[in-house]
Amino acid sequence: MSQTEELIIIGSGPAGLTAAIYAARGGLNPLVVSGREAGGQLMITTDVDDFPGFSEGIQGPDLMANMRKQAERFKTCFTHEDVLSVDFSQKPFVIKTETQNLKSQAVIIATGASAMWLNLPSEQRLIGKGVSSCAVCDGFFFKDKNVIVVGGGDTAMREVNYLSKLCKQVTVVHRRDALRAQKALQELVKSKSNVNFIWNSEVLEVLGQDKVTGVKLKNTQTGQISQLQIDGVFIAIGHKPNTDFLKGQIELDQKGYIVVHDETKTSIEGVFVAGDVADYHYRQAVTAAGAGCKAAFDAEEYLENLTK
Ligand code: NAP
Repeated sequence: MSQTEELIIIGSGPAGLTAAIYAARGGLNPLVVSGREAGGQLMITTDVDDFPGFSEGIQGPDLMANMRKQAERFKTCFTHEDVLSVDFSQKPFVIKTETQNLKSQAVIIATGASAMWLNLPSEQRLIGKGVSSCAVCDGFFFKDKNVIVVGGGDTAMREVNYLSKLCKQVTVVHRRDALRAQKALQELVKSKSNVNFIWNSEVLEVLGQDKVTGVKLKNTQTGQISQLQIDGVFIAIGHKPNTDFLKGQIELDQKGYIVVHDETKTSIEGVFVAGDVADYHYRQAVTAAGAGCKAAFDAEEYLENLTK
């Protein structure tokens, strides 16, 4: 067993790294378990134009590298492993990685959420070459072009709304004949003159070698196969919070998001949460960073009270 840390932060996106910056400046010597794919969703994002402080925008990976350097400047330590499981039934808490059993007095969980994909080989091959899961990140590259959005929920309709302001034509491809999204969003997108719908249809294949040229669709009612020429494919079938390693250890909601009490607190005293792993509503780098700051303050207060 290793020494007992004061604070372990699990995750290294904007939430985890902002928590690290604040906790390190507060003298807590945080250890960040960054995950093998450190940096979170911004690592697959190109131009970030909405993170305050970068008047000309910044590339997602550069923003994360800067945040990381900032955390390291205040002596944050990192271990580049995935967490396999945790034991919050005992104190100090135990965090099991691929090679270590780490112990900590307090924990901040900031493991984020991952966009769900259709998991078609052609879709996976063309990610970043016309296939995206983030209209705000990548929509600009499809200015005046034709795109499809796959999905019928709130996320999909928000993507459609955003893209309709940039693209020539936005086609919603949905597997049923009714949207799941809230009525207000449905009405908003249906009122757009450049939005149309292909109902009862699923994507069988994304077409194109080095860039997207179209999609092959199957009608779920008739089985009929068709092809549609388009420039971009936005997959918006939901996000999955990265909480598999927490099951049975902490309160999760029906969709697997961590249940939050009082801004940053979880069902386990001493375990705090920040960012998309508990937030399916805002899901922005800046809101995640703000949550990371709050979690660090609350963890600091918790640790102070432990020693009183
Ligand atoms: P969601 O509500 O689960 O909707 C996912 C959509 O994708 C559904 O229409 C679903 O079809 C479709 N889908 C799922 N798997 C698919 C597959 N393999 N192939 C094709 N289509 C598939 O997810 P979400 O839209 O991300 O919303 C998640 C939560 O966040 C919801 O509670 C939502 O209200 C909330 N949210 C809120 C806002 C907001 O502005 N208030 C914005 C975003 C998200 P079916 O309808 O047939 O199941």
